[in-house]
Amino acid sequence: MVGCSPAWPNPGGAQSGYLVEGPGRLLLDCGPGVLARLRLEDGGWPRVDAIAITHFHLDHWGDIVPWVWGRMYGLGRDLPRPELWLHPGGAELIAAIGERLGFPEMFAETFDLRVYEEGVPFRAAGLEVTARRVRHYRMEAYAFRIEGEGRSLGYSGDSGPCPALAEVAQGADLFLCEATIGTSNPDPDDLRGHLSEGEAKAAFEESGAARLLLTHRPAEQALAASFELVHDGYATDV
Ligand SMILES: [Zn+2]
Repeated sequence: MVGCSPAWPNPGGAQSGYLVEGPGRLLLDCGPGVLARLRLEDGGWPRVDAIAITHFHLDHWGDIVPWVWGRMYGLGRDLPRPELWLHPGGAELIAAIGERLGFPEMFAETFDLRVYEEGVPFRAAGLEVTARRVRHYRMEAYAFRIEGEGRSLGYSGDSGPCPALAEVAQGADLFLCEATIGTSNPDPDDLRGHLSEGEAKAAFEESGAARLLLTHRPAEQALAASFELVHDGYATDV
């Protein structure tokens, strides 16, 4: 767990970024603060084979921008380009953002840009990843299922209650699921984008996954001790 803060950072925390180490190194999301924390490993430039972004809310992809400058002018210069996996339309979207923040090709020159399709498995960092569309306000957003070396992991990304959550976590060894909101402050019913801990647990139970870890939760949001909540720097075997 490189970073697990929600849309605003927890004290001293990084936003969404989860490093899956298997045959290669796959980073799920890359929010603000993630790059700095990844550099703590050895002080150099992070070595990741692929990055997969669930959606374009800034807390899930913002550090892709400084990654460009570090790779162009800093220690990242001599490293291979990581794959950067985006949802359908993501390549055009990120090129348009580049046009405003620097220049149109800044992301394509830094990363090996790839686009995933809903429900079509793709290989990244030696792992098999499948994206499923989830309910996240009006935003196009996906959850991931990751499989490799006989193990499986479900990652919710950001999602309100929807059937795709139990699908990505179906029988998985681990379900890493957001629980941004408390039961006392749900989103309005007509525009859901996040889960309470009870809703995360319901998706987990429906999935039959072996273990539930909660993430993306404001530090000030209380949580019953019966839940496992991750923190930045937390590591576990899948
Ligand atoms: Zn979001």
